[in-house]
Amino acid sequence: MDCLFCKIIKKEIPSNIVAESDSLVVFPDINPAAEVHLLIVPKKHIAGVGEIGEEYAQLLVEIFDTVNILVKKNDLTDKLYRVVVNGGKAQHVPHLHFHLLGGQWKKYV
Ligand code: 5GP
Ligand code: ZN
Repeated sequence: MDCLFCKIIKKEIPSNIVAESDSLVVFPDINPAAEVHLLIVPKKHIAGVGEIGEEYAQLLVEIFDTVNILVKKNDLTDKLYRVVVNGGKAQHVPHLHFHLLGGQWKKYV
């Protein structure tokens, strides 16, 4: 499939993967919108929020467990952070991903 994030997951396109499990990968956004800008990406090609259903309950828990680990690792617990999922025309890569933005924001994501 011609999907940018599938290619990153298969390591056909280089990225600086900072965490990986059987079901997800984490790598920095190429064009960061905040001091910390990580993308948490399920390995399964899920096109977007509209495809999320009960079968992904465990995956979603793992994603937010990962968010909490990354928040601690990046010393964001008592600072500013947020998790963003874009959809519709706000989503540019059609493979579900969660932006973790921390520290000073630079721009809209
Ligand atoms: P979206 O707009 O779909 O929510 O976010 C897609 C994000 O992927 C953007 O913030 C963009 O900077 C990032 N991005 C696009 N191409 C690449 C790439 O080749 N490598 C990495 N690491 N990030 C990318
Ligand atoms: Zn994909």
